[in-house]
Amino acid sequence: MATNIKAVIFDWAGTTVDYGCFAPVKGFIDGYKNIGIEITNEMARKPMGMLKMDHTREIAKMLDQEITEEQIQAVYKDFERILFSNIENHCDVKDHIIETVAYLKAQGIRVGSTTGYTSEMMARVLPKAAENGYAPEFWTSPDQVGKGRPAPYMIWENMKEFGLTDPREIIKVGDTVSDILEGTSANTWTVGVVMGSSELGLTRKEVAALSADELEAKKAVVRQTYYKAGADFIIDGMDELPSVIAQINAKLKQNAAHLLLTPGPLTTRDSVKHAMLTDHCTWDDEYKEITTGVLNDITNLSANDDYATVLLQGSGSYAVEAMINCLCKPEEKILFLVNGEYGKRMLQIAKDSKHSFDVLTFDEQKAACPKKLAEKLEQDKEIKTVVFVHCETTTGLLNPIEALVKTAKSFGKTVLVDAMSSFGAYDIDMVGWDIDALASSANKCLEGLPGLAFIIAKKTLIEASKGNSASHSLDVYDQYQGLYAGGGKFRFTSPTNILLALAQAIEEYKKEGGLAGRMGRYMANHRTLTEGLAKLGINPIVDPSEQSHIITTFELGNMDFKTLYDHLKTKGFIIYPGKLTALPTFRIGNIGNVFPEDMLNLVNAFEAYLGESSANGFMDKIESQLEATHSKIA
Ligand SMILES: *Cc1c(COP(=O)(O)O)cnc(C)c1O
Repeated sequence: MATNIKAVIFDWAGTTVDYGCFAPVKGFIDGYKNIGIEITNEMARKPMGMLKMDHTREIAKMLDQEITEEQIQAVYKDFERILFSNIENHCDVKDHIIETVAYLKAQGIRVGSTTGYTSEMMARVLPKAAENGYAPEFWTSPDQVGKGRPAPYMIWENMKEFGLTDPREIIKVGDTVSDILEGTSANTWTVGVVMGSSELGLTRKEVAALSADELEAKKAVVRQTYYKAGADFIIDGMDELPSVIAQINAKLKQNAAHLLLTPGPLTTRDSVKHAMLTDHCTWDDEYKEITTGVLNDITNLSANDDYATVLLQGSGSYAVEAMINCLCKPEEKILFLVNGEYGKRMLQIAKDSKHSFDVLTFDEQKAACPKKLAEKLEQDKEIKTVVFVHCETTTGLLNPIEALVKTAKSFGKTVLVDAMSSFGAYDIDMVGWDIDALASSANKCLEGLPGLAFIIAKKTLIEASKGNSASHSLDVYDQYQGLYAGGGKFRFTSPTNILLALAQAIEEYKKEGGLAGRMGRYMANHRTLTEGLAKLGINPIVDPSEQSHIITTFELGNMDFKTLYDHLKTKGFIIYPGKLTALPTFRIGNIGNVFPEDMLNLVNAFEAYLGESSANGFMDKIESQLEATHSKIA
């Protein structure tokens, strides 16, 4: 993982020396004139930055007449002769180069270079430029590496010289399209410089003669050219480079790898993130086919063809809300089993939509009890549907899904489950247990990205739900029509990139060995975590018999959450605050692309924290009191 910029690779003419990049232009124009062909300044400049022979051929491609190989050789011969006659006069060092190079060296950033000049030409440029104060640590030429721009080989040569392996720690700076393309093909950061560039193609005198508006207009064209080529940054002059480096370093720091030990979004695999790099449109047949594949895959994870998967744009709560509001008729009474925040959220949904409902509340640290459910259903015959959370992510508590479903079913009730954080990590036999519907999302145990939720429901139930929904966007029946009758068509804009990521996440799931593989890893993660923390005296609040292998709530004890959080973050771990009202706690999720070794490292980070905080506890307290006093004064 790239941490900070370690090298800058400059182009030569037009970037660091030869303001306006004039040395090669005359050679091309006169070379072509000598075979009887007039080319414009613009044509002469367009391929600038390429190896000069490649450049000569590129110009030939722009002509509307056939050029023979003999003619090309003749033009090139003239070009070389003219270039060599004046190249030393074009080794003036551009503005801010000397200070910028000094700045880079002071920062320990290596200074390399690539060029479109041959080694023979460089032999003339190097001493002159050095005389004028500019000498990068390394240079290479296309003839030394086999191929010039836009191929990345010259950049690779610089990397080899500096012992660097990560192109995201390198910036390529240039003044032509081929410079930007060279950087892009090497996957470095790319910077286009506007003033004194070949793209601007003006002498200092010509620049000075322009009005401010005229100059701005010309610069805008150059900026557009760099932008189109894919430049990461576009600067006027080299004095802006330190600020570009600071911006990139900030980005790299912000992107530094953290393991998210939270209940979602979670740490995802690179392949899942990379799957997002293609843009698709919602109604494209190929895209719809991918969507249909995802629907079928999800259905088959827990159910069969009597069920359908309805994907919904949004986070998990959107699916929970849609499931409750569409699959239950407003006047039919719902019984919610509640023992945590996600259960409460469902109550809020029912309240807001004015559903008839009742609730059975259990202790936050205790699983819902099938016997109590049976008693309730015995008492209240009006209840039509039973809804509960499988894994209550607030605590990590696992409700006994099979027993609860069987109880409800023995009374002939419809059963809807919030299986958000358990789907994919527990065996949920929808067919065998006769579950009517469940809701989950892409960004929990399927390890996809946030933005897509889904409901798996009996097709008969969905088809009977027509007209139930008071919400247009969250209408499960309508969405089902699009996705199934419409062959994979989302009604409204689909989060296309997120869907592609989900399709990849499902591939990864299969690759890991499906349910058995994923469940096995999560169990190993959970065991490593809880056993490790237990040795440090940190214990879960839920009884092991009712504890999930997804997320665990631990007693905070004497630890301070803020300093613990900050300490773990510096070690690359993000944990979650507790959500219990009664007890100070914190939570650790062990789902996502995390492995038992990560859990061991986390336990070690806890140990280090405990060691430090017992040593520094006193000073920390004093400091935080001081801080509090300061902020009050401020
Ligand atoms: C994550 C989660 C949800 C959905 O929460 P969102 O913030 O909408 O993603 C619902 N229920 C449970 C049990 C969850 O873990």
